[in-house]
Amino acid sequence: MVSLNKSFLYGIGFASITWTISLYLYWQLNKTNSLGFSPTYSSIQDVSKSNLVFDAPPDKTVSRSGNYVNSPQLIKQLQSIRRSKLLNKHEKGLDELGMVKTVEDQRIRDEGFKLHAFNVLISNKLSLHRELPDTRNKLCKDIIYPTHLPVASVIICFYNEHFHTLLRTIHSIIDRTPKEFLAEIILVDDYSDLPNLGFNLTNFLNSNYELKQKVKLFKTQRREGLIRARMFGAQKANGKVLIFLDSHVEVNVDWIQPLLARVYNNRSNVAIPIIDIINADTFAYTPSPLVRGGFNWGLHFKWENLPTGTLSKPIDFINPIKSPTMAGGLFAIDRDYFMEIGQYDAGMDIWGGENLEISFRIWMCGGRLDIIPCSRVGHVFRRRRPYGDPDGKDTMLRNSLRVANVWMDAYKDYFIKERPDANNVNYGDVSERLQLRKRLKCYDFNWYIKNVYPELTLPTDSDVRLKNKWSALERDKFQPWHTRKRNYVDHYQIRLSNTSYCAQSTKDSKSKGSTLFLKPCMRSKNQIWYETDKGELVLQQLLCLQSGPTFPYLFKCHEMGGNQEWKHKGEDKTPIYNMAAGTCLGVDRIHLGTKLRMQLCTNPSLNMWDLVR
Ligand code: UDP
Ligand code: MN
Repeated sequence: MVSLNKSFLYGIGFASITWTISLYLYWQLNKTNSLGFSPTYSSIQDVSKSNLVFDAPPDKTVSRSGNYVNSPQLIKQLQSIRRSKLLNKHEKGLDELGMVKTVEDQRIRDEGFKLHAFNVLISNKLSLHRELPDTRNKLCKDIIYPTHLPVASVIICFYNEHFHTLLRTIHSIIDRTPKEFLAEIILVDDYSDLPNLGFNLTNFLNSNYELKQKVKLFKTQRREGLIRARMFGAQKANGKVLIFLDSHVEVNVDWIQPLLARVYNNRSNVAIPIIDIINADTFAYTPSPLVRGGFNWGLHFKWENLPTGTLSKPIDFINPIKSPTMAGGLFAIDRDYFMEIGQYDAGMDIWGGENLEISFRIWMCGGRLDIIPCSRVGHVFRRRRPYGDPDGKDTMLRNSLRVANVWMDAYKDYFIKERPDANNVNYGDVSERLQLRKRLKCYDFNWYIKNVYPELTLPTDSDVRLKNKWSALERDKFQPWHTRKRNYVDHYQIRLSNTSYCAQSTKDSKSKGSTLFLKPCMRSKNQIWYETDKGELVLQQLLCLQSGPTFPYLFKCHEMGGNQEWKHKGEDKTPIYNMAAGTCLGVDRIHLGTKLRMQLCTNPSLNMWDLVR
């Protein structure tokens, strides 16, 4: 109720909750998905559809190094007639950006994955000012925010971030934040050692008047880790509100007002945007479902379905959603409040655990934490973190031990049971943090569980209790743009052009990991590929064809595009191109039993296929 009233204060034009809204809501609810999509922070999140606008790459057929490259014409043709109807105007460009055309492209791509764990080939070519799909609920557009919101300092720490991706982060903020709300962007270079990164960044910032005015670049004296680097940034900040962001994000339209309004409303409100997904393989931007933050007894953050009934009225889709924890990377907090409640635990190193620490502290010491659905910020979710602790320590474990010892009282034992290896880890001195807890007169962990996270399952829960807790949460994630059904739009054999060989799985078609080889074409089941409207190729309607670095193979369909998203012309003699790999299905010789590989899309006799219907 409280939130409802607040929304009215912001002046929502809700005089007409009419058919349109009810229908809209009904439509959304009916699209709920149960495919187990869960954007684990820092793990891969692929997607299938995107809206991207980009700078057109140069229209060349010969690269500077003289290599033959695919004509852009070829790429344009790589849309089957059937599928092209389903694609929007921006999406078609993604193939072109991702396509590996030369050996140099391949090198950039491979090196980029090693250093950054995402596709820098695409990031380099994408505009620094690319448009994003507006992923907000339509009702967000009707909200009128107070004009006198506090100004924010945006704080971005980075360690060895990919240059172009960092620039896009900065530009997205400049482009999509009303000037009056942005005091400054504070960049904290956490002692990066990538050659030229600092030099290039300084030059870039100096080259543009607006950037020069707004962006302040600092560098730490040594590698601090994201926790102390953020504290360092906060000391430099002048804005009334601090907004922490990662260095590989893109903020969406009107992202800042809902966060500022929430903090303005009460200085102990901490506000988190919905973290949309930027696919690490394709850079496609797609909305995240409405989920909240939780954790397990290993003290790993997890996304979790909302309590049953949270989204029952239209306004529930735009009101703040109470969250027991935050993912960590992105949030807004009043600067003085941040200082008052003890910033971060400066004894924590590099990465991990700090998100649960600040979440527990906010709730237990009198604040609150909510996800604000009308604020959307895209984040590149990578499969792995491309850096470690300089001393090779498991900082997540050490930091988590500090969390457990300061905040979790007797519940700490559950963590130790989950992580017996923690017993041998020296987690340093936490006496200052314990004093802080006392000084702030915080509630205990039992209070937190009872009042903030009653759905948290305990190792001691009986079966009945567990069942009750599970049923207290929605079974399905609320997914605005994804549909549950797999829609097949075509089926065919994949025959190497001018031969009588077809692509068939090496093991039986139910075996995950099975690669493909050339076999005489037969109308047998293990040669029949079903194409979906998401561009998947599903053998016998069971497993999806997925691109690997060298070979394509069968894998469980994940419904998130990227390495399971294929494009072709829909007619004979077509390349079959993979969106994530940037390469095509091919063979290195025409021979019975030859294994299919991922190859540059350039060899007409070895990667042209007929789709035999
Ligand atoms: N970061 C940093 N110093 C470090 C580790 C990380 O400044 O020692 C930065 C990193 O560049 C990123 C942010 O902290 O901007 C969060 O880290 P990351 O994105 O790796 O975390 P994830 O999103 O994978 O959880
Ligand atoms: Mn990140």
